[in-house]
Amino acid sequence: MARGEELFAAIRGEAPSLFDRNRWVGQVMDWCMRNEEFKLRLFRFVDVFPSLSTDESFTRHLAEYFGAEDQDLPAVLKWGARSAGRGGKLGAAILNRFIRHNIEAMAHQFILAEESEKAVEKLNKLRQDGFAFSVDLLGEATVNEEEAGQYVESNLALLRGLDEAQASWESLPGTGPAPDADWGHAPSVNLSVKPTACYSQTRPQDFEGSVAAILARLEPIYEKVIGMGGFLCLDMETWQTKGITQELFRRLRSNHRDYPHLGIALQSYLRDTDGDLADLVAWANREKSSISVRLVKGAYWDFETIRAGQNGWPSPVYTRKAETDAAFERHARKILENQDICHLACGSHNIRSIAAVMETAAALGVPEDRYEFQVLYGMAEPVRKALLSTAGRVRLYCPLGEMIPGMAYLVRRLLENTANTSFLRQSFAEGEATERLLIDPAEQIPHDESSAEVNVASPSMAGGSGDLPPFRNRPAVNFALENEREAFRRALAEVRGGLGHVYPLYIGGEERKTEKLADSVNPADPEEVVGRVCLAGLPEAEEALDAARRVFPAWRDTPARERAGYLLKAAELARQRRANLAAWQVLEIGKQWDQADADVAEAVDFLVYYAGEMLRLEEGPVIGEVPGEENRYVYQPKGIAAVIAPWNFPLAISCGMAAAALVTGNCVLFKPSSLTPVTGRLLTELFRDAGLPPGVFNFLPGPGGSIGEFLVSHPDIALIAFTGSMDVGLNIIRRAAEPRSGQSLVKKVVAEMGGKNAIIIDDDADLDEAVPQVIASTFSFQGQKCSACSRVIVLDTVYNLFVNRLVKAAAALKIGPAEDPANTLGPVADETARQKIFDYIELGKAEGELLFTGEIPRGRGWYVPPTIIGGIRPDHRLAREEIFGPVLAVMRAADFDQAIAWANATPFALTGGVFSRSPAHLDRARREFNVGNLYFNRPCTAAMVGRQPFGGFHLSGTGTKAGGPDYLLHFMDPRVITENTMRRGFAPTLPGNRGDATPVS
Ligand SMILES: Cc1cc2nc3c(=O)[nH]c(=O)nc-3n(C[C@H](O)[C@H](O)[C@H](O)COP(=O)(O)OP(=O)(O)OC[C@H]3O[C@@H](n4cnc5c(N)ncnc54)[C@H](O)[C@@H]3O)c2cc1C
Repeated sequence: MARGEELFAAIRGEAPSLFDRNRWVGQVMDWCMRNEEFKLRLFRFVDVFPSLSTDESFTRHLAEYFGAEDQDLPAVLKWGARSAGRGGKLGAAILNRFIRHNIEAMAHQFILAEESEKAVEKLNKLRQDGFAFSVDLLGEATVNEEEAGQYVESNLALLRGLDEAQASWESLPGTGPAPDADWGHAPSVNLSVKPTACYSQTRPQDFEGSVAAILARLEPIYEKVIGMGGFLCLDMETWQTKGITQELFRRLRSNHRDYPHLGIALQSYLRDTDGDLADLVAWANREKSSISVRLVKGAYWDFETIRAGQNGWPSPVYTRKAETDAAFERHARKILENQDICHLACGSHNIRSIAAVMETAAALGVPEDRYEFQVLYGMAEPVRKALLSTAGRVRLYCPLGEMIPGMAYLVRRLLENTANTSFLRQSFAEGEATERLLIDPAEQIPHDESSAEVNVASPSMAGGSGDLPPFRNRPAVNFALENEREAFRRALAEVRGGLGHVYPLYIGGEERKTEKLADSVNPADPEEVVGRVCLAGLPEAEEALDAARRVFPAWRDTPARERAGYLLKAAELARQRRANLAAWQVLEIGKQWDQADADVAEAVDFLVYYAGEMLRLEEGPVIGEVPGEENRYVYQPKGIAAVIAPWNFPLAISCGMAAAALVTGNCVLFKPSSLTPVTGRLLTELFRDAGLPPGVFNFLPGPGGSIGEFLVSHPDIALIAFTGSMDVGLNIIRRAAEPRSGQSLVKKVVAEMGGKNAIIIDDDADLDEAVPQVIASTFSFQGQKCSACSRVIVLDTVYNLFVNRLVKAAAALKIGPAEDPANTLGPVADETARQKIFDYIELGKAEGELLFTGEIPRGRGWYVPPTIIGGIRPDHRLAREEIFGPVLAVMRAADFDQAIAWANATPFALTGGVFSRSPAHLDRARREFNVGNLYFNRPCTAAMVGRQPFGGFHLSGTGTKAGGPDYLLHFMDPRVITENTMRRGFAPTLPGNRGDATPVS
């Protein structure tokens, strides 16, 4: 690779300033590369740094991040962290200023300027040095429409400034045909935009809506670019929005056929890119529209890997660096081969990759105006210099904007530079031999195995039970994939085609019709009957109980392995029926696509997880080992279980409670919620089709007053598994405690009730994360989750900023039928719920101050607007009572102490959250924020089976954890069986004792 050698020769002895150990930043980078723990702390500190607005906060964080005695630290940080607080206010201020100065210098390494004017000055200078540029405005995390609009406006203002400036620019020299253009062919003004920043509600499942909304905002930018003869490039962000960006590119290009200066970034680390690039080139040929591709390797590798791992999706990125490098060369070749229609911008700092592009272009005879080189501002200065002197056509990607939005960019760059696999690190920091750095990456990929399906961090629980594999959560459907969206649309259409059927009871293995029917309706249009369900009366309930009683001994004695087998079969059926089971919930209870799908996935998880758990518990451990005695701890089912289910997770929670009861050997009488009986019936069909013996599972829809009461009070019901409101739950507990005549057992109640969940927003919280995640926790599925956030407790110093962004984010939410994926909120469950929530909104207005309430669609649906009420104090009813709807109480706390005290000041203890980047505050919350499920820096909803076993205490429930390792124990009675194993003075050998027999005396 002669070109590579030449480039290396040109830069010999030079190092990028980032690795210059004579500078603070170089020293710190050096530490990062030697010490992973320090690197983690430093990057986290850099991340939180812009939000540390006072000396006190700065010093405290410095001590928290770097103050531990055993830490290996660069001198200045060590001194700073350990003397933090000792030098009084003056000391803190000096320290603050010193470190702030250095971190800002680090940011300015990569960020051209904070304001446009300064940026124009610097761009002038870069052009004088012979570099072209592409500018990128930081601030891509837009959480509401005002911010998205500002992003667009700021881009337009920037363009206006550049338009003025360009009048005085001399074009960069080149051999192309247009002397006024840079290099004889390229526009001087080149703007890069992040498409998703243009629309705060970009959602893969709402592909069309997202594309249309972004396009409407991009058009004015592109028209301005066209008007000034510039170039626009669409940056590529994460894999989830890749399809949206590509579609935007096609539409923008088609809308302005005659203007060729539009580019799109493609990422070579994505496995999809071969196919995407082929499609794009084919499209360009079909449309006879030339295109420009900025080829990069990709900046979100860690994020993509983690996101895929958390969702159980195959990783979209290659897992070997050489694969990415080889793909980059392959993609570059493909573009160069199609140079008649396709222009290449080679975005790399890797000399091997750059040289490969140069050599391929030369071999294919590609004219100079069909490709250029691009590097990031502040990176690899020697490489860009060498490129300028050899190729001449070098463009610097120059971000500009404020520090806070700039931190995400800075952290990406720091990660990139310090990664073990980074070309820059290997070349400049580690002095890797040139020959090794120039090896063809294709040769470095092992041929005997492919990482095509390697799932790097797929979640799985350690060790499977029996011969079951380790438990893995069912991956969520990925609605970024068109085939998944299409499958869901099809399922919705099929379900709609089958509305209005009559559903019988299921008793003793037989379908049973009754005269009395109840309609289940679509909450988005209560005149639409989803299904008509037969209602059980007391005779049917008696019959079901009889059937269960008859089969109980046989079911109890069925080996646990066999019982678990039925659950696994039901799980398999649920997997096959997944889209259908979800689509029913969309229509029956108004769940959004992703929410409905998550419900089905959770049901499958419960089935599989509890099957595994039962196998683990089956044998029962031997305990208390002493010679001559065997003590076996075993479990047996309680008997007949009543499962009384809620409507908000009509499949998942029903299935979880029923599966736990069944697999532990109990027989089940299942009463679905009267708002979701059709989904209840679908659960019944899963168990029926899995082949459960008749009578083991019985479906008894009916009114709470009669069937519910029967199930709670009958003396033969041993166990009641209930999820629902606190009032009903407490009533069940009370009723269950009263023994009836003929009752020979104490009823067990497993009750999961309500919550009044709070999220604390600390003064150093990342608001780009906190705002959307509080929105998701509060408003997803209209706030009708017991885990939903209903209080947000905000520290005084960030109150105005947070609440302002939050209110505007709520205003951007779309409300309408859950069938339409554009809507984030749908209808609430029924008219009673609607009225109750409206009453609470009125109460909130009286107790506090209405900060926001949305518009609801006209028509028949049971809609409630998302509402935010401020000025709420702990003694207000709005801070204490569960509302179960899209209503958020905002509380302003003086400090973290008060925030924790307020968070705990309700009778509930279900979920809670903290957004904070203070390790000490998180530790404090760990100890003192007293809830069953506590979440840091993420939403307080969406618990996963096996990962976040779910349930609370106090008035939130009886302290059980659905989806956790001890849940099944609540469905069984433990027994201990002790045998004297000694005969005539000898006993079997104890484990660990190698003798033939144990002499006891
Ligand atoms: C002008 C310009 C514009 C850019 N625009 C974008 C953009 O729109 N979107 C975007 O995402 N990025 C963009 N980038 C950033 C770019 O993706 C990174 O700078 C680039 O990945 C660095 O690659 P390199 O060839 O310089 O370095 P190298 O060190 O050779 O390669 C780094 C690449 O290898 C990947 N990698 C590291 N380890 C592994 C592994 N184990 N398995 C597989 N791959 C691995 C990294 O993720 C990274 O992509 C842009 C860069 C430039 C220069």
